[in-house]
Amino acid sequence: MQQDQQHPWIILFDIDGTLLTVDSKYNRSHLRRILDELEINYPDMEADSFSGRTDHDIFTSFLVNHNFDKNLYQKFKIRYLDYLKNVLLTKTDKVKRHDHIDDALGFFFDGNFICGLLTGNYPQAAHIKLKAADIHRDFSFGAFGEFERDRNKLPQLAINEVQKIHDFTLDPARFLILGDTPRDIICANNAGMKCVALTTGKYEYEELAEHNPDLIIESLAKPEEWFKKISSD
Ligand SMILES: [Mg+2]
Repeated sequence: MQQDQQHPWIILFDIDGTLLTVDSKYNRSHLRRILDELEINYPDMEADSFSGRTDHDIFTSFLVNHNFDKNLYQKFKIRYLDYLKNVLLTKTDKVKRHDHIDDALGFFFDGNFICGLLTGNYPQAAHIKLKAADIHRDFSFGAFGEFERDRNKLPQLAINEVQKIHDFTLDPARFLILGDTPRDIICANNAGMKCVALTTGKYEYEELAEHNPDLIIESLAKPEEWFKKISSD
């Protein structure tokens, strides 16, 4: 590609709260079971907010009373992924596929776009949840929360991943993050990327607006309309 040409828009999809929602009561009952099985002392788990946080951050925080023991962390991670694969995948009624996501998935996957994931999930967790929600798109890359506590590190991971498969010079301003939490917006703003925030997660319009996303929408319906708004700025 010539340097003076712009590369295609790169669309980064968040998963939880954006494409799907896992029944939180059900999910937390399994997290509690794993904590108890491993004799991890973390009484606050049920009250914690997980929204927009990376798996690495959430599950490391459970080990505050265990000196953040790395072996214990690995054991927890294995059991968590085991629960997703062997339990959640058989209980797909616990995973709500959001309305209108196919409008946006169709629009971006069928058009001249590069589509990836930017999510706090472990990669295996991301793929299991997508499968449970019957989402079978071939995302060409992903920035995951496996090794980073801080979501603000994920946009650079996404840039690195795109750079592995395309040799054009990347412009962060032609990356669009689709997410449902203030943390999605903050990480986009820090990286100079665009952000369209959705009210399909736990946050209301006003809470999202405080962090200045480029746009706030109620669902992924009519992508041609809202994408035009943010891409013609
Ligand atoms: Mg989310």
